[in-house]
Amino acid sequence: MQTAITFGPVPSRRLGRSLGINNIPPKHCSYACRYCQVGTTTDRTIERREFYTSAEIVAAVSQHVAQSRERGEAIDYLTFVPDGEPTLDIHLGETIAELKPLGIPIAVISNASLLWQEAVRDALMQATWVSLKVDSVEAHTWRRVNRPFHELTLPQVLGGIETFARHYRGTLVSETMLLAGSNDDEAGVAQVATFLTTLPLACAYLAVPTRSTEDRAVHGPDEPVLTRAFAQFSAVLPKVELLIGYEGDAFAASGNLAADILSISAVHPLRRSALDELLRKNGARWTAVEQLLDSGELREVEHGGERFYARKLM
Ligand code: SF4
Repeated sequence: MQTAITFGPVPSRRLGRSLGINNIPPKHCSYACRYCQVGTTTDRTIERREFYTSAEIVAAVSQHVAQSRERGEAIDYLTFVPDGEPTLDIHLGETIAELKPLGIPIAVISNASLLWQEAVRDALMQATWVSLKVDSVEAHTWRRVNRPFHELTLPQVLGGIETFARHYRGTLVSETMLLAGSNDDEAGVAQVATFLTTLPLACAYLAVPTRSTEDRAVHGPDEPVLTRAFAQFSAVLPKVELLIGYEGDAFAASGNLAADILSISAVHPLRRSALDELLRKNGARWTAVEQLLDSGELREVEHGGERFYARKLM
């Protein structure tokens, strides 16, 4: 099946208006994650090869950018977010270099499994913003959640991430997808957080599956577990945000207190003290929070002797 090379621009909380680049047709990947929303990995591989020429991708992107500009649509990022692992594309580095004259920052969302290869690191070095997947740093869990190509080993993958992070000068973020009963246990989350402290991350994102997956048994943790994981990450990492499917913006005040509480708590579960402060600044009373709790849009969660308020998960 032929898929379009470009799509969007789509709104993204992390990247603003992002024009997606699909440089890998479905479904060539080094992983077959249990939660993959693209579908079954039909070609699980670590062999890099040509799927499209650089010229084909650059032509498709240039045309899409020109059309968007004609319509007056802004594009904040060109984002490689394909139906597979973007670094399997042997021309990725060359393509990024050839897209730079368009003058738009370039992002790559990668599963990070091939960074032990120098050529892959060199390709990603050229991007402005790179997201790396770290779902587990425990081999058995990693195999169960990400179902990697059989020759890959976890030390190899984590070593590649560390080497890349030491040399990369762009914006580096991590993404950890939590699955209930698989990698959301306290010890496993603490191990991931500890590993992430070794990387110069602009932000560590904690995600839950938000769209349907082929494996119906797969789902994210509930609010108490997600809030605990958020608290664990926040205890050791400078910036942590949730990706739970709401395009909340923690920094925009809409003037509507209920909307602001839901928007902020979709990104950062709020401690009771922070919520009290928000109410005080808005001259509002606790009844505003009670209404959100009663409607089920907000949940009260206890962790470590503190009360947190988290947006209800879908
Ligand atoms: S790495 Fe991404 S594309 Fe590959 S299987 Fe996992 S979620 Fe799907």
